[in-house]
Amino acid sequence: MERRLSDTVENYLKVIYDLSSDNQRVGTGQIAEMLNVSPASVTDMFQRLASEDPPLLNYVKRQGVALTEDGKKAALETIRHHRLLELFLHEVLDYSWDQVHDEADRLEHVISEDFEERVAAVLGNPQWGLHGKPIPSRNLVMPDLDTCYLRDLRPGQSGLVHSVNDDDPGLLRYLETLGLVPGASFEVIDFSPYDNNLHIRIKGENDVVLGASVTVQIRVEILDLAVDKER
Ligand SMILES: [Zn+2]
Repeated sequence: MERRLSDTVENYLKVIYDLSSDNQRVGTGQIAEMLNVSPASVTDMFQRLASEDPPLLNYVKRQGVALTEDGKKAALETIRHHRLLELFLHEVLDYSWDQVHDEADRLEHVISEDFEERVAAVLGNPQWGLHGKPIPSRNLVMPDLDTCYLRDLRPGQSGLVHSVNDDDPGLLRYLETLGLVPGASFEVIDFSPYDNNLHIRIKGENDVVLGASVTVQIRVEILDLAVDKER
């Protein structure tokens, strides 16, 4: 990306990328809530980014926005910076996994492509970030993942924690004490439909009951029990 975008623009593109993962158009209200700004300023930004040359967004009034190819590339570039920086802060500078996000949020906008490449090289060109999310490749390709939210599992199902949201340090510390970190396996013991609590048994750890505010922040891979039994 030769074009310099402002921090604000990069943050918009990143949030739109996150919210449009299922190819849905993203509405003003969703962005206003995520970025904690007024709907009017979101609309202004949508119009501005849609009229850039080349446009970063495709904006249809009352239907929201979708990223153009250029917008998507810019979002992935920022996400690549963010996830490489988080891993670098942890592996090289000894930050714990709940301390890296805010630092990376600031640094992701300022590092050069050369700096990015050196960080990637020092880390051995990693494919996965500290919290389990994929790092877009140098060519800005994101792998396709077969994961779902822990929230969607029901009793009898087993899974492997794939990734956790990285922006709530308290949640990260809590998950670490539970041993519910990327790579941990678990089985679902019980589900209560009214409050959406999931009772899960974490392999090698204690049982825990988690509410929907937690289970919606954890992506898991469902384990096929039939395959396990054959082994
Ligand atoms: Zn982060």
